Amino acid sequence: MNQDAQKVLIADDDGINRQVLATLLKPEHVVLLAKSGEQTIERAQRHLPDLIMLDVMLPDMDGYEVLRRLRGDPATAHIEVIFITGMGRPEDEARGLKLGAADYITKPFNTTVVMARVATHLQVVRQRRLLEHLAHMDGLTELANRRRFDEIFAAEWQRASRHQHPLSVALLDIDSFKQYNDHYGHPAGDRALRSVARAARSGMRRPCDLAARYGGEELVLLMPETDAAQALFVAESIRETVAQLLIPHEFSSASPVLTVSIGGATLPLGAEESASALFDAADAALYRAKEAGRNRVNWRM
Ligand code: GH3
Ligand code: MG
Ligand code: MG
Repeated sequence: MNQDAQKVLIADDDGINRQVLATLLKPEHVVLLAKSGEQTIERAQRHLPDLIMLDVMLPDMDGYEVLRRLRGDPATAHIEVIFITGMGRPEDEARGLKLGAADYITKPFNTTVVMARVATHLQVVRQRRLLEHLAHMDGLTELANRRRFDEIFAAEWQRASRHQHPLSVALLDIDSFKQYNDHYGHPAGDRALRSVARAARSGMRRPCDLAARYGGEELVLLMPETDAAQALFVAESIRETVAQLLIPHEFSSASPVLTVSIGGATLPLGAEESASALFDAADAALYRAKEAGRNRVNWRM
């Protein structure tokens, strides 16, 4: 099975039906099974399948109720659902589709048709994921874009203030980059910016850390549950990594090679607490790093 095989959850109380569908889907997909409504909801939340084949008649609740509950939870709300039913009445089909089911298959089913429909819906899921990914990504650096950063920053700020966890944010700006473009050309500038982006991304330590392109030649680093001392260490190592790339920059006011300045701040600030106050504090710290001579990290303490 290939690495990005999609997950299909088969929810049916009839063992034979589960078996038939599982046998059809197993060669190409990761197959999960459930026998009841509760089990379906629990497995959907735990495994986040790409598609659920949902029997309308389950012992503990009907498929419509299962779908309603899946839609009510943001984590499972977008999972594609195909109803499978013995009831072939048009009003049943209409009810399922109105609730947001992607499709409706009546038993006894034709296996070729089932396979074709599953393939179609999984293709839609794949395309939607790809679009979401592209909408969140900056094309030049392949880092998260500003829109993505704004979303995640807002969510992490909420989480940090609710649980009183530290949250660190840093702004990174390339030194004398206008001079770099002017002397080495814009394409070389783009390559240098990509190298800096790679250094920033590989400098992030934890899965929930985020390096994003904030705009122009400015990147932003978001480090949840990271205190000022740890974040300062990460920022310093990224600054060092960029300098060690030894990209010549004869016209920089800071160094003979391309360098970056980084300004950071950490929640709690001990002053006005808001996401924008945190960001502004990092921006002010960056300004001071520039003023102090560039190629350095400055943290608001
Ligand atoms: P400082 O050390 O104060 O940051 O000086 P600077 O020259 O880097 O600052 P300034 O903000 O004046 O210039 C930023 C330059 O970054 C201007 C712009 O041409 C360049 N830049 C912004 N985005 C891109 C990009 O995507 N590609 C390239 N090649 N250059 C970019
Ligand atoms: Mg700038
Ligand atoms: Mg700059």
